[in-house]
Amino acid sequence: MGKSRKDKNKIKVIRYITVFIIIFILFFLRTSYKYYKKGASDVVEAGNLSESILLMSEKSAVNLALQHEKQLIQAEKAKLAELEKRQQKELDQVENRRNVFLTFDDGPSEKVTPQILDILKKYDVKATFFVIGSSAEKYPEIIKRIHQEGHAIGNHTYSHRYNYIYRRTSNFLKELENTEKVLKGILGEDYETKLVRFPGGSFGEKKAPFRKAVLEKGYTYYDWNSLNGDAEGHYIPKDRLIQRFKSTYNGQKELIILMHDMDSKYTTSESLPYIIEYLQQNDYEFQVLR
Ligand SMILES: [Zn+2]
Repeated sequence: MGKSRKDKNKIKVIRYITVFIIIFILFFLRTSYKYYKKGASDVVEAGNLSESILLMSEKSAVNLALQHEKQLIQAEKAKLAELEKRQQKELDQVENRRNVFLTFDDGPSEKVTPQILDILKKYDVKATFFVIGSSAEKYPEIIKRIHQEGHAIGNHTYSHRYNYIYRRTSNFLKELENTEKVLKGILGEDYETKLVRFPGGSFGEKKAPFRKAVLEKGYTYYDWNSLNGDAEGHYIPKDRLIQRFKSTYNGQKELIILMHDMDSKYTTSESLPYIIEYLQQNDYEFQVLR
């Protein structure tokens, strides 16, 4: 009997301890849950507390995974947007790329051609010189300098005498060949240029057979779509040349500017720095004809 009472007491104590432990656990869980879910709007009843906690941690795990996934997607999106932006920029650059070809006809000359070469050197830009064969013969050193400094040389006939060169196509071709010989004599037998500029331009029905003959012989000819007007009179002040250039420029993507480098065209060299700077400000790349 005594033993049974003792056992009963023991059971009572165990029961109290168990209840105490349960209360303690519940209290602990409730506190940690409140702490964990601070700010959450859900009201959790004490009865489903542990279940809720389990659910919430599962939810949080899912949320965390989702959040992580979302971050990855956002990072991926940002990367793609950045790539698209870069590609668009490159495309814009290609589309906005503008080339200018400075061309000088009727040289070389003793004074003005070297002046022009000095200016081109100073600005580190290249140009194309359409030379007259007979003048090249006179100033071989200037031809060498043009070539050595990386400019292109084109053929502008040997004599530039309209009444002879445009009398028949064979005259025209003979003059081109003569100039080629002169250039080879100065720059070496390996030197070759197939660039041609027709004196006075290639336009007009009258020159159709000449254009055909030139192309058949493997030459490439270039006219122009802009000019400084230095052929429109004598000693035109540099400001007028600059104005004339600006009025013909029109922001063209491929700009071929006609200018002249005979000694009488010294205002052309005076105006050249302004024209180069204007083109540089308008993002033109300086190229040579080929
Ligand atoms: Zn000319």
